[in-house]
Amino acid sequence: MPEAAPLLEDYGVVVGSQMIDELKFLADRLGGRRVQHINSTAQGGGVAEILNRLIPLFNQLGLDTRWEVLEGNAPFFEMTKKVHNALHGEPERFSRKDFRVYLECNAENLKRLTLDGDAVFIHDPQPAAFVESRRKWGGRWVWRCHVDVSAPQMNAWRFLERFINRFDAAIFSAPQFAQRLSIRQFLIAPSIDPLSEKNRELTTEEVDRAMDQLQIPRDKPIVTQVSRFDRLKDPVGVIEAFRIVKKSVDARLVLAGGGASDDPEGAEVLAQVRQRAGNDPDILILELPPGSNLQINAIQRASAVVVQKSLREGFALTVTEALWKGKPVVASAVGGIPLQIAHKYGGMLCHSVEGAAHRIKQLLNSPGFAERLGKNGREHVRQNFLLTRHLKEYLLLMLALESGQDVTFL
Ligand code: UDP
Repeated sequence: MPEAAPLLEDYGVVVGSQMIDELKFLADRLGGRRVQHINSTAQGGGVAEILNRLIPLFNQLGLDTRWEVLEGNAPFFEMTKKVHNALHGEPERFSRKDFRVYLECNAENLKRLTLDGDAVFIHDPQPAAFVESRRKWGGRWVWRCHVDVSAPQMNAWRFLERFINRFDAAIFSAPQFAQRLSIRQFLIAPSIDPLSEKNRELTTEEVDRAMDQLQIPRDKPIVTQVSRFDRLKDPVGVIEAFRIVKKSVDARLVLAGGGASDDPEGAEVLAQVRQRAGNDPDILILELPPGSNLQINAIQRASAVVVQKSLREGFALTVTEALWKGKPVVASAVGGIPLQIAHKYGGMLCHSVEGAAHRIKQLLNSPGFAERLGKNGREHVRQNFLLTRHLKEYLLLMLALESGQDVTFL
């Protein structure tokens, strides 16, 4: 059952009532505009996570907001996963057929969808070619990129660029992702919802119950990575780091994750992870069904250290979620992660398996230091990466596009 959305006013307790007033003020100026968000999966991964939380708030503010999901078949998602990897800088080969599959799928979806919003936000590369139809609909169109495109493979970027340049604007999650484009570019960082089932405060009993149900023993400190089983999240690298840690500190590793309907590579990566883990009783691999929000919340809270050893990353909401829970985080210095972690102040950045292992050991051995990092990390999230700030920047962006003027957060 979908979670009931909190009321906008409920966020005042976390972010202050002034923020709520600002949101209402900005929304009033946009009086009843129709907004549409389009992405390629309703669940799994960070984009669906954000849209699920953001859209009810848009509606509560009086903006008539709809969420459409692109429908694709297996060849389409195989193609777009290659695009995703290539934008992250991985070498991928594309055939003419790949591009045809992409364009045909976009065209098929356009026959079905009504894209008549005053503001249309197209998320990521999968539906980017929808922009071909924008003249028919009017409205202002924005490409919202959640991927690290700081060093893309040019074959994929060139293909996409011709669509992107037809939007009114593009949004990137971190300054280093900005591109040479002929359209305006905005920087808006993603966010988490502090009141969602995944992030709300839990009682000790709730954590204990969830951990018991998941059959995760609590006799040793827990080191966790929560992620889709994706090569770029480097779950195998986490196991290697954990094996180094285990030489000197006793701990248990939890790798928890599920799949996303637009990610066809999950099963293969999971098989590699299982093989690498062998029958080590201290490595628990949990396949979580969609909607395991309370479970993820509890696992993160029950962990001594949370890891995100990604090789590439758009932003890494899993890092934000762990920081918000006051957890010491060890995460790779890739994509949006350095925006979230000031090294040795609000978490630890790492660059290798050995580096990750070193930092995990350090935190397991120094609980006082780990706690301080966690506290600082949580404050950083409170100030920068909560849903209300995100919503405010979307509203400011819509106003900026309508007025043609710049806004101060850029
Ligand atoms: N997530 C989840 N179930 C899983 C794995 C991940 O709900 O099995 C969530 C995770 O808690 C986070 C989001 O999916 O909210 C992942 O976002 P992130 O930006 O970390 O990575 P992405 O998957 O978008 O690359």
